[in-house]
Amino acid sequence: MEIKLPENIPLRAKTELKKLLSGNRNFVNSTPTAKNMSIETLKKYAFHQEPYAVVLSCSDSRVVPEIIFDCGIGELFVVRVAGITAGDNVIESIEYAVKKLKVPLVILLGHDDCGVMKYAKEHYPKIEDDFKSILSCVYPVLDKNEDITCHNYFAMQHTIWVEETIMKKSKIISDAVNRGDVYIAKCHFDHSTGLVDLI
Ligand SMILES: [Zn+2]
Repeated sequence: MEIKLPENIPLRAKTELKKLLSGNRNFVNSTPTAKNMSIETLKKYAFHQEPYAVVLSCSDSRVVPEIIFDCGIGELFVVRVAGITAGDNVIESIEYAVKKLKVPLVILLGHDDCGVMKYAKEHYPKIEDDFKSILSCVYPVLDKNEDITCHNYFAMQHTIWVEETIMKKSKIISDAVNRGDVYIAKCHFDHSTGLVDLI
């Protein structure tokens, strides 16, 4: 299966993104190859880490970055939060990976059937005490697209909004992107096929 990537990706990020998307095809085809899952690997990284991508993923139990990208220990710096909602701690976690660990690739991984999108759609525009900070990160998408009916389309629009928010709020990340040191890949995971595709 050929994987087509946009033209404008810096070389390091392109190599890593290709590797992850082809790892995802291994997962889909039930031919995983990840080897770095042993105690020996963990010992190798006892005092340092060198992940090549940071993945912002939903906390959803069905979205497990290392498994769906066919990766082992030490490869991905994963930030998991319900609905990939980009609050301050989340953005700073990505900044840490970009600034301190020098990862060349940021993956924003939305997914089908996301509970946060469904909850937000049901409760919009009410802000109650429950899930306040999560909803405040998702409602802006509905402010712009009140007619959204498909949760999966909503999730994709939200992933696009997350990129815009990170670029607006984070000088560390936007500077790195503008210098060409980092590429942000907006992705969507489909439970029915297991495929991760670029948005
Ligand atoms: Zn979710």
